[in-house]
Amino acid sequence: MAKRSDVAVIAHRRKVLGGGLDELRKLLTDEIHDELIWYEVPKSRKAPKKIRKALDEGAKLIFVWGGDGMVQRCVDTLAGTDATMAILPAGTANLFATNLGIPEDLAEAVRIGLHGTSRTLDLGKINGEHFAVMAGAGFDGHLIKEADRGAKEQLGRLAYVWTGLRHIQDDPAPTRVVVDGTTWFEGDASCVLFGNVSTITGGIKAFDDAKPDDGWLDVGVATSQNAIEWARTLGRMALGRSDRSPFVQITRAKRVDVRFSQPTLYELDGGDRSMTRKLKAKVVPGAITVRVP
Ligand SMILES: [Mg+2]
Repeated sequence: MAKRSDVAVIAHRRKVLGGGLDELRKLLTDEIHDELIWYEVPKSRKAPKKIRKALDEGAKLIFVWGGDGMVQRCVDTLAGTDATMAILPAGTANLFATNLGIPEDLAEAVRIGLHGTSRTLDLGKINGEHFAVMAGAGFDGHLIKEADRGAKEQLGRLAYVWTGLRHIQDDPAPTRVVVDGTTWFEGDASCVLFGNVSTITGGIKAFDDAKPDDGWLDVGVATSQNAIEWARTLGRMALGRSDRSPFVQITRAKRVDVRFSQPTLYELDGGDRSMTRKLKAKVVPGAITVRVP
């Protein structure tokens, strides 16, 4: 019987990068001579079960093929384990990979996965689920995905402002944000955002220097009263001056409790979750090990 390697691939089979999964298999088998642990899923929601199987089978290095939604499902399962994740940025939005300097180039991403440096990074956790890039409420999760696609089409900042306008929450709602046990914000808010990395799309920074290894979660509240102010806020964010915007308050936290006056949709890493009146967010220091350049 063929020997099993401790390298696994968990692939979102509808995502595309380079020459696809066949090229991935070729690149990996050029260097690995034992049988690969290989699972493909039709949607990222199916990934955690396969990740657990791969871990049971002895996987130590797990290549994740997909975008931020796929990476989120995988880090949520891998958090706290001793497995190392390698990212093959095959999604529409690959913000976690981009922030870590992993290019959308299959051969290079594979090389980084096999021979790069292992870096231990923080994750955020919101209502019981880990995230790698950002989470929050009061905006449409698709905003991030669409903005990223826009950036790739060279529309950049304009696309971001435009999608923000299209997905604006109807009305700012009474919101209370408690940071590490102290009320930090109380008033009408359009959007509450938690960031683990700084660049949210196409070089646009929501948080000027959020770092995924400083043991802190960056927290921002937008209080824009209408779509025009929201656009101005996004315009400032686009210029990398978000912390100086009159419409955005920013701080750092270990844990954050948010209460909305009405049920509000929350999202993480570009994926929508459910309506809730409460968000509990925290930083999970050193939760995941990732191969980086
Ligand atoms: Mg941080």
